[in-house]
Amino acid sequence: MEAELHAALVERRAQALYRTRRVVDGPQAPQQIIDGREVLSFCSNDYLGLANHPEVIAALQRGADEYGVGAGAAHLINGHSRAHHALEEALAEFTGRERALLFSTGYMANLGVITALLGKTDALFEDRLNHASLIDAGRLCGARLRRYRHADPASLDGFLGKHPQGRRLIASDGVFSMDGDLAPLPALAAAAARGDAWLMIDDAHGLGVLGRQGRGTLNHFGMGAGEVPVLMGTLGKAFGTSGAFVAGREALIETLIQQARSYIYTTALPPALAEATRTSLRLLQRGDAQRERLLALIRRFRHGAGQLGLALMASETPVQPIVVGETARAVAVSEALLRRGMLVTAIRPPTVPDGSARLRVTLSAAHSEAQVDRLLDAFGEVLT
Ligand SMILES: *Cc1c(COP(=O)(O)O)cnc(C)c1O
Repeated sequence: MEAELHAALVERRAQALYRTRRVVDGPQAPQQIIDGREVLSFCSNDYLGLANHPEVIAALQRGADEYGVGAGAAHLINGHSRAHHALEEALAEFTGRERALLFSTGYMANLGVITALLGKTDALFEDRLNHASLIDAGRLCGARLRRYRHADPASLDGFLGKHPQGRRLIASDGVFSMDGDLAPLPALAAAAARGDAWLMIDDAHGLGVLGRQGRGTLNHFGMGAGEVPVLMGTLGKAFGTSGAFVAGREALIETLIQQARSYIYTTALPPALAEATRTSLRLLQRGDAQRERLLALIRRFRHGAGQLGLALMASETPVQPIVVGETARAVAVSEALLRRGMLVTAIRPPTVPDGSARLRVTLSAAHSEAQVDRLLDAFGEVLT
């Protein structure tokens, strides 16, 4: 087996698909020490700069004083603390839903929801560009998985018509994680109503960024719980902490508590992290100034990139990919940027479709205008 693994790794390297990790010293921030050298990074999902916010850090410390470090058990044993419970109530209120349920990661939340709701006799309809965790959940649940054309309600309608039996669930990213564009939520909800299906939105990149008080993609489109019965959000992005939640009606949440295996068979998040997240939720809701700053940086980046003639995508969010096509070229551009002190990761297949390798720029309210300008200068040197 070892020889076989070795050969596959060599092959992967030859195709510019080899993945490596960089070692970061210090907290998440635009200026980072990575592999021992200072860089300006444009690849984190810490959109509001909360991952290293002094009030969030203080809440984590107070939480540790009160609850210790580990939760010690799963939620259904004796790991469900007052801190978790209070965060669930705050998230339910924030999302305007009856209940919310904490999961340890977004990946696990998506696996848990979809495997709890669907089985062999059911059908799941997913956007082709959905996050890997939604796709994996679809494979694991055993339902018929149909992947409709990206952001295309007509393609979805066609599939819905062909699978009239059983439960039907449509699942989509709210903001697509590798493209930055928004799902056409009103059209998806209309298709769901016509097809007698439930709609689930994974709003990992919308919460905190879009909508009034950062209430996300649904709020941006003026849509409520009735049209989107299953809302999933992650806490490791704009919230700046870690974990995830699912929000919805009583029957959904109770079903997940009974049946979601990735909820039942795992240790609860550290309670102190729940305390930190309650503080970050408060900051996030009050973060209109940060959201405006972020929007101004997005506009600045798009304007400058347009002037350089870079291939921007149709994104109004902090995810601003520059598609270069060939995998090896994306890697070379990323390396050339790094030589200029800019960290922008190359995103390659299978994370994105073949031939659409890209530099995934993400912006944060913690960036300055001057830092965005430095990135644009570097792109100008490398790509034009
Ligand atoms: C990051 C992400 C996830 C996974 O969340 P984690 O908490 O990091 O496991 C799920 N869905 C989408 C769309 C994401 O971007």
